[in-house]
Amino acid sequence: KKQQLELLASVDALTKDGAELHLAANISSVKELDLALKYGAKGVGLFRTEFLYMDRPSLPSEQEQFEIYRQVAEKMGNYPVVIRTLDIGGDKELDYFTLPEEDNPFLGYRAIRISLDHKELFKTQLLAILRASAYGGVRIMYPMISSVDEVRRANEILREAMAELDERGTPYNRDIPVGIMIEIPAAVTIADLLTEEADFFSIGTNDLVQYVLAVDRMNEQIAHMYHPYHPAILRMLKMTVDAAHQSGIPVSVCGEMAGDERSIPIWLKLGVDHLSMSIQSLLKVKHRTLNTSAEEAVKLAEECFTMRTSLEIEQLLTDYVDSTK
Ligand code: PEP
Ligand code: MG
Repeated sequence: KKQQLELLASVDALTKDGAELHLAANISSVKELDLALKYGAKGVGLFRTEFLYMDRPSLPSEQEQFEIYRQVAEKMGNYPVVIRTLDIGGDKELDYFTLPEEDNPFLGYRAIRISLDHKELFKTQLLAILRASAYGGVRIMYPMISSVDEVRRANEILREAMAELDERGTPYNRDIPVGIMIEIPAAVTIADLLTEEADFFSIGTNDLVQYVLAVDRMNEQIAHMYHPYHPAILRMLKMTVDAAHQSGIPVSVCGEMAGDERSIPIWLKLGVDHLSMSIQSLLKVKHRTLNTSAEEAVKLAEECFTMRTSLEIEQLLTDYVDSTK
């Protein structure tokens, strides 16, 4: 079975009737890239950089970060590489950077909130990413965006980093695409406003589901309530994709939901531009896409959008996957 899947590595993810899903990989280290390429990932849709900062005694320097980002860019050739700026807090901690004790860490001091509050830390990372942009299809992505103001403040620091590189005479891509994660309900509801501030969106369903349903993604006791196929989530996905496409910017999905083969009809219906998933999911999703009729899947997704409960939707999508096996 594994060998059979590996034959799919070099095949595009096309449905039986020719609709293509563009599949990219989520990575958190350089060593995962070979496997991502082997399995046919057409880019890195999410590079979780927090792992560069973890399990070490101090912050990584600009040079250390640059060398890693450059390796990723070079290895991926002409494919896009979306580097997400630091997303610590919530469940992720750093030994040398004490975060305050919080009653609600996932509603607290995390991700872009920390970066905007620690300008030097943030600028160092942006300098490293910008320098790597001279070596491949590097893009920048900000996590946990909840307002237009945050994007503007982040971009202000990005411009300062660019000015610094200009002064040093260091090359970088001046037109580097800058995108944002859509993973907070507020971002979904102002998605139309955010399209004016960002070059692309990437939907982080892991956090989006947690925040929309008020279900802590780490809490075992309520894990049965964590429903990616909740009608509220489907509506939020649609709002985000529609807003992006109305403004002509691309939108991808990079949460775990993208790697769940049952979700394929939803992405075909919404017209999502890219799916980024864990490397382990790539071949499975590709295989399922090859066995799917886009025409049928879109009809099925339309039915999902009229349904009232998570369980009904999930059942319909599960039965569909089983019927194409
Ligand atoms: C997400 O929230 O869906 C996501 C992709 O980011 P992370 O899982 O790193 O929070
Ligand atoms: Mg997230």
